Amino acid sequence: MNKYICKTCGVQYESSIDVPEQCLICTEGRQYVSSFGQSWTTLDNMQQSKEFINEILLEANGLYSIATKPNFAIGQTAYLIQTVGFNVLWDCIAYLDKQTIEYIDKLGGIQAVALSHPHYYSTQVEWAEAFDVPIYIHEDDKEWVMRPSDKIIFWSGDSLELHKGIVLHRLGGHFRGGAVLEWKDGNNQQGILLTGDVIRVVADRQWVSFMYSYPNFIPLPASKVQEISSLVKGLKFDRLYDAFHRIIKEDANESVQKSAKRYIEALSGTLFTT
Ligand SMILES: [Zn+2]
Ligand SMILES: [Zn+2]
Repeated sequence: MNKYICKTCGVQYESSIDVPEQCLICTEGRQYVSSFGQSWTTLDNMQQSKEFINEILLEANGLYSIATKPNFAIGQTAYLIQTVGFNVLWDCIAYLDKQTIEYIDKLGGIQAVALSHPHYYSTQVEWAEAFDVPIYIHEDDKEWVMRPSDKIIFWSGDSLELHKGIVLHRLGGHFRGGAVLEWKDGNNQQGILLTGDVIRVVADRQWVSFMYSYPNFIPLPASKVQEISSLVKGLKFDRLYDAFHRIIKEDANESVQKSAKRYIEALSGTLFTT
């Protein structure tokens, strides 16, 4: 029996004798199957290959990024928020080893894991079991959990306070249960928003975008983008981190507002003169 990991999206499946027939995350319209075909690995194989390490970097006071080098699958960055007595792992990456666990233990361990959306579920259950903590996933994305576990808590409604000043908000859009994390005390009390790819920072770091599918370039409707920007407007943050280590360092809420306005103008045709 093995718990197979899809090499394209990094999501781990529940135990099986044979490899799964297909990856349900990758065969869905927001992702893709590699042009080389579907392939699988396991966490044991990844560890034994000694091909990977996790790089943990201090990003800001109490905020660490965690990314696998060289890149694996989607190549996202997870974040560890470190507060007194309560650390949160925001989003997840597939690779986990003893060195990573020891390093994070020195930072105070992990008390909760919270996910933005299914593309980053990766080996979330391995992480939750290693640190013996719950995983918070919005109930609207329940169908995308490929490795069920009693560690998973499906939350409902529009927001959930995980700990004082650390709040999950469901924005939807990219996925129905797509969530962001507002850390009100981060960045010297000015606030940090961690967005996964529910909101993505684009090449011009003063702007963001909102897509139904990023790899397949499928936009969201104007009404949804308007709804997301209205919800974000009420949140307390000056800095924003997405899942690809892109950062808006200041005035990030204004960036989201003006980006939503531009996006809606682009969809309606008023942004262009030709
Ligand atoms: Zn996959
Ligand atoms: Zn995604």
